[in-house]
Amino acid sequence: MLNASLKQLSGLLAGKKVSSVELTQTFLKRIAELNPALNAFITVDEDKSLAQARAADALLATGNAGPLAGIAIAQKDIFCADGWRTTCGSKMLHNFIAPYDAHVIEQFNRAGAVNLGKTNMDEFAMGSSNETSYFGKVKNPWDLNAVPGGSSGGSAAAVAARLCPAATGTDTGGSIRQPAALTGITGIKPTYGVVSRYGMIAFASSLDQAGPMAKSAEDCALLLNTMAGFDPRDSTSLEREKEDYARDLNQPLAGLKIGLPKEFFAEGLSADVAKAVEEALAEYRKLGAQTVEVSLPNSKLAVPVYYVLAPAEASSNLARFDGVRYGYRAPEYGDLVDMYQKTRAQGFGAEVKRRIMIGSYVLSAGYYDAYYLKAQKLRRLIAQDFTDAFKQCDVIIGPTAPTTAFNLGEKSDDPVSMYLSDIYTIAVNLAGLPGMSVPAGFGANGRPVGFQVIGNYFSEAKMLNVAHQYQLATDWHTRMPQGI
Ligand code: GLN
Repeated sequence: MLNASLKQLSGLLAGKKVSSVELTQTFLKRIAELNPALNAFITVDEDKSLAQARAADALLATGNAGPLAGIAIAQKDIFCADGWRTTCGSKMLHNFIAPYDAHVIEQFNRAGAVNLGKTNMDEFAMGSSNETSYFGKVKNPWDLNAVPGGSSGGSAAAVAARLCPAATGTDTGGSIRQPAALTGITGIKPTYGVVSRYGMIAFASSLDQAGPMAKSAEDCALLLNTMAGFDPRDSTSLEREKEDYARDLNQPLAGLKIGLPKEFFAEGLSADVAKAVEEALAEYRKLGAQTVEVSLPNSKLAVPVYYVLAPAEASSNLARFDGVRYGYRAPEYGDLVDMYQKTRAQGFGAEVKRRIMIGSYVLSAGYYDAYYLKAQKLRRLIAQDFTDAFKQCDVIIGPTAPTTAFNLGEKSDDPVSMYLSDIYTIAVNLAGLPGMSVPAGFGANGRPVGFQVIGNYFSEAKMLNVAHQYQLATDWHTRMPQGI
C-alpha cells in the first residue's frame, strides 16, 4: 500500500478493499514511527484526520465519491486549514490556529480527501534546504546527513519516505521542484494563476504558486485536477475553463521537440547530475522525441533579479506580523513601537530578517529605480527568452538543481551559495511558466537526481504527458529509500 498510486488507492477504497480510516491509520502509524528521525511534519492531529476519514468512508459508501475521496494528503504548513495550527515554519505563527481554509484545503475537503497533517518547511518558505524552520531541520530520507531541499522539504521527505501518498507544496523560486529533485519524487509548479493563493501565507505574491508533490506524474495530474480552478478571492486567479490534466497522459511522444537550453548544461552543473539528465534525454529519443539546442541568454540574471523582487514583496507581505492581531507577541515591552520591534526581532529568524532588510532597501526612495525597477525590466527580458525558445520546441528539459542533495549545514552559513541551488528553477517563476521535476536516477553519492520539464503557459497537461511517458519506460519514481 505504501507504494500504491493514487489511482490504485482510489480503486481499493471504491472496491471496499480498504477503508479510509484504515488507510489513514496506516500512514499515521508510519508517521509516528519515522517522523522522529525525519522531522517532516510540524503538526499531526490523529483525531482530526480520523474524523475526516470516517466522513470519507460515509461518502464512499454512497458510491458518488470522486477519485481523491478517502485518500490522506499531507499539507505544507503554509496553507491555512480551519482549526489546525498553521505556522509557516515560523516562531511568529507557532501558536496560530487558522480560522478558515485556504482555497487548496477547501478543494481537497470538497473532494473528500483527508488532511494527514501539516508538513515542515523553511520559515515563510525562504530557503532551499529546510534548515531555516523554527521547528528544526528536515532530514532527507535517502541519507539522514543530507538536506531534503526546500522550502517544501517536509512534503518532499514525507512523500519520499512514504509517510503519505501525496502532499502539497508551494514554489516561489523552486520550492516544489528542487526538493522533489533532491528526494526522488515528482512535483509540478503550475502556470502562475492556475491555483488560487487564497489562504496560502504570502511570501512573494507575484511568484508564489501552489502545486502537488507525489510519486508520479499521473498522481500529480489527479491532484492538480482538484487544486486548480478559478477563485474570485484571489485577484490573480485566472478565469479559465476547468481542465482535465490527465487527459493527455497516454499520448505518444513521437515527434516531440525538446529544447535544451545551452546555459543549463554549462559550468556549475555537476557531472553526475549532467549524466543522469543525458540518460533521460536518451530515453526520450528512444520514445521518438527530438532535441534541439535553445538559448535563454538572460537566465544568468534570474538569481540576482529574484533576490531583488522576492525580498521586496516579502518585506511588504511580512509587515502584517506585528504582534497586534495574531501570532507571536513579545512577552515584555514598553510602548507600541517597542512592542513591534521586540515582537519582530524575536519572532522572525535570521533568513527572514535578511530578506526584509534587502526588500526594504531596494524599495527605498533612493534605490527604487536602481534596483527594483531595473529588476522588473530584466524580469520581462527573462520571460521573453522563454517565449522565443518555445518557437523552436514543445517543452524545455534540463537539470532541476545543479547538484544532488548537499549535506546538512554545508551551505547554511553561505546564503549566496544556497541561493544558487535554485539557478535552474527561478527563471520559470519570474516568467510565470509551469515547471516540474521528475526523478532520473541517482548521483555519485547515491542521492537522487531530478530533471526539469518546463512548458509554455498552460501546457501542464502536455508536461505531465511528457513526464508520464518517461515514467512508463523507467522505474526511478518507484524507488523508495530503505532503512530510515
Ligand atoms: N529557495 C528560494 C528562496 O529561498 C525559493 C523558495 C521558494 O520557492 N519558496 O527564496
